[in-house]
Amino acid sequence: MKSAGRIVVLGGGESGAGAALLAKKLGYIVFVSDAGKIADKYRNVLINNNIGWEESRHSRNIILDADEIIKSPGIPDNVEIIRMAKDNNIPVISEIEFAGRFTKAKKICVTGSNGKTTTANMVYHILKKAGLDVCLAGNVGESFAFKLAQRDYEYFVLEISSFQLDNMYEFKSDVAILLNITPDHMDRYDNDFEKYCNSKFRIIQNQKAGDYFIYNADDPVIIEKLDTIKTGAKCLPFSQKVFLEEGACIDNNKIKFKINNKEFYMNLADLSLKGKHNTYNSMASGITARLFDIRKVIIKESLSDFRNVEHRLETVSVVRGIEFINDSKATNINSTWFALESMTKPIVWIVGGIDKGNDYSELKELVKQKVKAIICLGEDNSRIIDAFRDEVSDIVETVSAKDAVKTAYSIGKPGDVVLLSPACASFDLFENFEDRGNKFKQAVYDL
Ligand code: ADP
Repeated sequence: MKSAGRIVVLGGGESGAGAALLAKKLGYIVFVSDAGKIADKYRNVLINNNIGWEESRHSRNIILDADEIIKSPGIPDNVEIIRMAKDNNIPVISEIEFAGRFTKAKKICVTGSNGKTTTANMVYHILKKAGLDVCLAGNVGESFAFKLAQRDYEYFVLEISSFQLDNMYEFKSDVAILLNITPDHMDRYDNDFEKYCNSKFRIIQNQKAGDYFIYNADDPVIIEKLDTIKTGAKCLPFSQKVFLEEGACIDNNKIKFKINNKEFYMNLADLSLKGKHNTYNSMASGITARLFDIRKVIIKESLSDFRNVEHRLETVSVVRGIEFINDSKATNINSTWFALESMTKPIVWIVGGIDKGNDYSELKELVKQKVKAIICLGEDNSRIIDAFRDEVSDIVETVSAKDAVKTAYSIGKPGDVVLLSPACASFDLFENFEDRGNKFKQAVYDL
């Protein structure tokens, strides 16, 4: 007979180690299994807390004896061990679902295809400045479970990815923010956009009266989906295209925020993060802050002094009149679209990597208008070259950040901008997007 409270955590990374630690502290019998190697940092957490673990294998006898499995978001649903768990009727949940059971905090949950990290940080920045007992966690920095294992807070701002949402069932966001839905990770959703879209909408499942749903009213995918579902939550949209009675919209170069019949305005020029995409992020953050009665002056101050995390349209340096911008986190078409759109100078564009099923035609118009040369930075650049050879005559292939920067520098003229905005994942030539961004920056500093 199984003993009660036996938890197996699959994946020993940030979310897995956090989930294991929390479960252990709560008195569960916990075992962590990772098909690959567990990083030293996380292995030490397991060892120091007397948590059983294994790496480079999955022991079926232990895993299939679990009462519940917590699956790390990096593990796809179709791997054998998950299929076997499901065949054995063992519930498979995400770390966020698990941790959500053990907090009394208000949970502000941010999802979308792009802008999650920026917006989660922005909301956190405002709430912190207002003196609230708030913690930032989830897909950004330390995991939710890991933070909760240390202590509970009054507010959690959680960045939540679609992979985490996929294994969430009972969890409820007090405030859900849905920034946008554009194709990404299609490889994990059988190339079915509908499936990905449904996954994102799980952010509002279980919401009821008293909860809030903040969403982008300019996003056609969100609007179409909203037509087909009902939510008990109060809906607060934001838009840069249409006038809205409630929520946030543009009025004469200002953002008008109106929530619960209280109104305030903020000059677009005063936002610290530029670009239309960041205006959306600022709108969502400002609405959220008003829900907790944070004073307008604090919201305005926070939106004007917020500094973004690295690798998101980050100005690195200006060398010989050429500006270098690191947008290594742009790993899909939509984020790169906003990067290209927000540039005001001729662009030498560094692009490429692992293509997750990109439709480059969406960038054609902007590329034609703004891009003077393309530097490919990837192992296989054929789709990029095919897509843009009619728009841009100068297309060069490179296989290192150093090479890409040097080539861009030799092509660029004073007044140009060299923009690394790859629209692709980084794993062909780099460890991750941070590694790609850091190598790009180092290459710029070495010029
Ligand atoms: P995520 O956590 O969803 O990946 P980030 O905040 O890390 O989002 O930003 C990822 C990329 O998307 C960056 O290139 C950034 O400039 C761009 N971006 C940020 N906010 C938005 C938005 N609201 N819409 C589209 N692109 C965005």
